[in-house]
Amino acid sequence: MNNAPVGVLGGTFDPVHNGHLRLAMEMATALEMAHVRLVPCARPPHRGAPTASPGQRAKWIRVAVSIEPRLRLDDRELLRDGPSYTVDTLASMRKEMPDTPLCLIMGRDVFAHLPKWHEWERIFDSAHIVLIDRPDIETQLHPDAQATLDARAVGNMRALHDSLCGLIYTYTPPPLAISASRIRELLANGESPRYLLPTAVLDDIMDAGVYMTCESHPATAANT
Ligand code: ATP
Repeated sequence: MNNAPVGVLGGTFDPVHNGHLRLAMEMATALEMAHVRLVPCARPPHRGAPTASPGQRAKWIRVAVSIEPRLRLDDRELLRDGPSYTVDTLASMRKEMPDTPLCLIMGRDVFAHLPKWHEWERIFDSAHIVLIDRPDIETQLHPDAQATLDARAVGNMRALHDSLCGLIYTYTPPPLAISASRIRELLANGESPRYLLPTAVLDDIMDAGVYMTCESHPATAANT
């Protein structure tokens, strides 16, 4: 098999920012992916409810990726009832793309808590994981996450093209210390996050008045 993988970057995207977008671009280029899908979750099971609505978060991603064919919005989690379990999202993508390697992209901060996710081991039945080092966030891996990494790690990205799922590849893109929580904090304090996120997204946030008055929820280490 030599099929270009599709990257899957899940997250809260509250809001999408240049850290997410640049990361997706780096992945598409360095790992020779067909494209990378940004997949906003509706109801993250392991953290507080997002401040912006699902519709707003999806709209901002759509605006942000509209100029780049290698990046796409995938809003299937917003169209589904119940919690946004990554294992279900990947299983549904696997059905649609039976012959395409899928690469779930996640920060090491998120991978650290993977064993708390719903049916986390089944993720490897549908996808590889590409692990991103985030030097701005310190993380201690859960022992089961460490054991999984030891068992599934590959050192060559070609392996991600040669099989459909089951491997872990670590990649360290040039770091961008940008987080959605920092952006929410700046807005809540009446300061500007300009240049941390696309201008069109910031303009829409300002027009809608999102994050300005509400307390931004604190970042937690775990995700979907
Ligand atoms: P928050 O600050 O609200 O926790 P976040 O900016 O970390 O949000 P998420 O939407 O939770 O963004 O992240 C989605 C995915 O993108 C996660 O796997 C996260 O590790 C990764 N990510 C977010 N920001 C960056 C960044 N600056 N560099 C690399 N990866 C990032």
